[in-house]
Amino acid sequence: MTLGNYYEATRLVNLTTSPLNGDITTDVAIIGGGISGVSAALHLAERGYKVALLEAEQIGWGASGRNGGQVLPGFGASQTKIKSLVGAANAKKLWDMSIEAVDLLHAQIQRFGIPCNPEIGYLHAAVKPRHVRELREAQEELSHLGAPPGSLLEGEALRARLASPRYLAALTDNVAGHIHPLNYTLGLAKAAQAAGTALFSQTRVTKVEPGKTLKISTPRGTVTANFLICSGGAYLGNLMRPIAGYIMPVGTYIIATEQRADVVEMIPGNEAVADLNFVLDYFRRSADNRMLFGGRVSYSTLPPPSLKQSMLARAQRVFPQLHNARVEYLWGGNVDISRNRAPHFGRLADNIFFLQGFSGHGVALTGLAGKLAAEAVAGQAERFDIFAAIPHAKFPGGAKLRVPALLLATTYFRLRDML
Ligand SMILES: Cc1cc2nc3c(=O)[nH]c(=O)nc-3n(C[C@H](O)[C@H](O)[C@H](O)COP(=O)(O)OP(=O)(O)OC[C@H]3O[C@@H](n4cnc5c(N)ncnc54)[C@H](O)[C@@H]3O)c2cc1C
Repeated sequence: MTLGNYYEATRLVNLTTSPLNGDITTDVAIIGGGISGVSAALHLAERGYKVALLEAEQIGWGASGRNGGQVLPGFGASQTKIKSLVGAANAKKLWDMSIEAVDLLHAQIQRFGIPCNPEIGYLHAAVKPRHVRELREAQEELSHLGAPPGSLLEGEALRARLASPRYLAALTDNVAGHIHPLNYTLGLAKAAQAAGTALFSQTRVTKVEPGKTLKISTPRGTVTANFLICSGGAYLGNLMRPIAGYIMPVGTYIIATEQRADVVEMIPGNEAVADLNFVLDYFRRSADNRMLFGGRVSYSTLPPPSLKQSMLARAQRVFPQLHNARVEYLWGGNVDISRNRAPHFGRLADNIFFLQGFSGHGVALTGLAGKLAAEAVAGQAERFDIFAAIPHAKFPGGAKLRVPALLLATTYFRLRDML
């Protein structure tokens, strides 16, 4: 897998950061320079806190700079599942916050003039009759939630919006959309920096010593802080052992074709699209007219063999027009999946907050998650606590056996995708 990340090749935001060298004291330390971390930093700095963000690689290096760019309300778990976990009243509050997350993303893009090509419009596509039923149910559910009504497209109306023979129907969605996620992450980080956050790259946290005053170790310096926000996503590993077993890093992959005039005809309304399979296809046009096509998963997080060919074959199954397409970029990243696919936020101590488990549904929600963590640090944890009250279970077998346990569970869903 060597072709590289399209977003890196089209990065527009220059951000200057450096590694931590020496010991510092701060009000709040943040682990992770993805959208969760930079958003928390921005909101805390704007509240007047002294903030140090510690990123092991570069800002946006993780899922935030690699994803499909699909801006989605809701969660990795369906709203019905969320309701079964927390009850109807809190499920509605969570849904409303997920809409707020989408609004916040667009507001930040506007406010800071972030060059990340925001587009609104989405198609949820049905591959099989079961999916068409699920779309009708979703339409019904969304109307109860007060969401703008989507229309179910079929036949010619569908073909006019999505020039593919693969789908039976699609539900339109005028809330979701897409962005260039790396430029968005970097733009938000730049805003956090301008607000006073110290951004440290190439600074991996190796140890956290809890206490009223926290001691956070990195290879070339120590951070002493009153609060810690842990937002290392799928890349945190076992640094914070008590929360490690609740998420499973899963690899997912994207290709970008060469620039082609005909991608405009494939999705003339420039919506983002995803199907309803468990191992789903998700795709959209890029601002420079490539087809960005994502899918496949790897539970070992190692890239599957012949990835370029198999990803292109998946794209051609949707758009036979791509029969002569050239793959110019291929990359992947890890998604932090929770067992029930609901976000996993909480505390490890009164002064240590964590944000994880976005389950492939984090482009919009991470921004709000950072804001909620900032509210919690400031002593206004009501909204954070609605998320923190979602019950979660560890993957069976703990950190070491997470992969085989999930494989068993997902084999069932893969088989179901085939039916
Ligand atoms: C290929 C792919 C496609 C996706 N597509 C979509 C999509 O279309 N729509 C959607 O909504 N979601 C999508 N997602 C999910 C979405 O990208 C994530 O939910 C979101 O970016 C998570 O952001 P984050 O800030 O929590 O974590 P990340 O962006 O992963 O950031 C975590 C950061 O923490 C750092 N870190 C970890 N450990 C340490 C440590 N010890 N010390 C210092 N730093 C550390 C990492 O280096 C990393 O940069 C996708 C994910 C992937 C990988």
